[in-house]
Amino acid sequence: VSTKVRSAMMRAVRQKHTKPELELRQILWRSGIRYRVNNKSLPGSPDVSNMTRRWAIFVNGCFWHGHKNCLKTKGGKGSRIPAANSSFWQRKILNNRLRDARNCFKLRSLGYDVLIIWECQLKAKESVIARLNTLVNK
Ligand SMILES: [Zn+2]
Repeated sequence: VSTKVRSAMMRAVRQKHTKPELELRQILWRSGIRYRVNNKSLPGSPDVSNMTRRWAIFVNGCFWHGHKNCLKTKGGKGSRIPAANSSFWQRKILNNRLRDARNCFKLRSLGYDVLIIWECQLKAKESVIARLNTLVNK
């Protein structure tokens, strides 16, 4: 992967309002759940959150956040990591996972309930809705 292609990929990753996230927001909106998008005053600026009710949701792309036991990326290892520069990608994904864990920890120590929804889980809408309800109705 050339540097040019790589930086374009990284830009794409940083882009907010990716499709899975929009899907989740649509579900929340339809359920009448109030939320704020990318609140920068919270650790990791969660995709959606509510400071009054103290909950935060991250919608994680399976590849970039290293989803373990993922059907889509086959256990989070191998299949989708480009063969060229694979150590670069592995390191990148590991760093993402560590950062995710740190942010989760910080949020929880602030009294937040944190829900992580993986991109591949969004397909099972009913189960996502059930998890959202548990979170917002606590
Ligand atoms: Zn997944």
